[in-house]
Amino acid sequence: MSTQLLTPAAPSTLVFVPELVYFEPDALNYPKGQRILEWAREQKLDIHMTTSHNQIRDLPGESELEKYRIAKRTLVVGIRKTLKFDTSKPSAEYAIPIATGCMGHCHYCYLQTTLGAKPYIRVYVNTDDIIGAAKQYIEERAPEITRFEAACTSDPVGLEHISGSLRELIEFMGTQPLGRLRFVTKYHHVDSLLDAKHNKHTRFRFSVNADYVIKHFEPGTSRFEERIAAAGKVARAGYPLGFIIAPIIWHEGWEQGYAELLDKLYASLPPEATTDLTFEMIQHRFTKTAKNVIQKRYPKTKLEMDEEKRKYKWGRWGQGKYVYPDEQANALREFITERIFDKFPDAKIEYFT
Ligand code: SF4
Repeated sequence: MSTQLLTPAAPSTLVFVPELVYFEPDALNYPKGQRILEWAREQKLDIHMTTSHNQIRDLPGESELEKYRIAKRTLVVGIRKTLKFDTSKPSAEYAIPIATGCMGHCHYCYLQTTLGAKPYIRVYVNTDDIIGAAKQYIEERAPEITRFEAACTSDPVGLEHISGSLRELIEFMGTQPLGRLRFVTKYHHVDSLLDAKHNKHTRFRFSVNADYVIKHFEPGTSRFEERIAAAGKVARAGYPLGFIIAPIIWHEGWEQGYAELLDKLYASLPPEATTDLTFEMIQHRFTKTAKNVIQKRYPKTKLEMDEEKRKYKWGRWGQGKYVYPDEQANALREFITERIFDKFPDAKIEYFT
């Protein structure tokens, strides 16, 4: 009889359940608003009404930091009024807004600055209006294909058990010869999307990184192993798959860290996952405003944000950002690119930025 050493499995990352929920009164006129209300009641959540999803002013908390932590556990259910979509280069033509805000606590996340004083999580119940707007954008660009990015302002997979909006978008895009959907996630809760009729029009991407980055800067998200297991599932469900390596961070032992990342992807992905595979690479960047906010919200962060060590890149819309000097950026790009092609010769690298 053989004995096996069993290491206890790490606990599974749970789905997000907020502490507080706010509803705009009109949101309850929509079936989705009603469904979310029912769910919130079942979960015995603290339920409030609000006049607008843009004005939640009475969040509890003694200090700014406490208010921020509570906001990250607050869900606001509202109606998306602005149906003009932002552009979303280089990953897609447009950002499609189904949610704003995220329960993750990634130190580097740009939502810290773009959402300013409103870090709470908003989901929108008028998905039909949002889909209607997408349809118009597709028609305007015909016969070109139009791509929509659903993860510009949130991590929609992490909210899918509450809203179900991603499945609706996936199935809508499945019917559109000229429409494509893409999104990226750090959550592994993909089961409700596996049998959606995607028609291969949705590229399902996972955000991955070197161990060091995941361990130090991504609290509140699914573990690497969970994300990879989920990637295998979506590939087996026939979705085109992608990985975003972002933010790529220069750290001690980075070569080993990123080499191991590619080794682990190679070892864990089923063959179906590698037939139509894309990679996107984004080096770490920060603005002065972001640095300020991050240092307040995560005062003990190990995230290196030393302007002296970076190159300043002027921004098109005002404030510029700090990226790695060319020599470092090139070293990162070349090393990771080589590793990708070594393991996945048929993969497509979409960009490094
Ligand atoms: S999971 Fe994505 S959207 Fe959420 S905090 Fe982390 S980086 Fe930001």
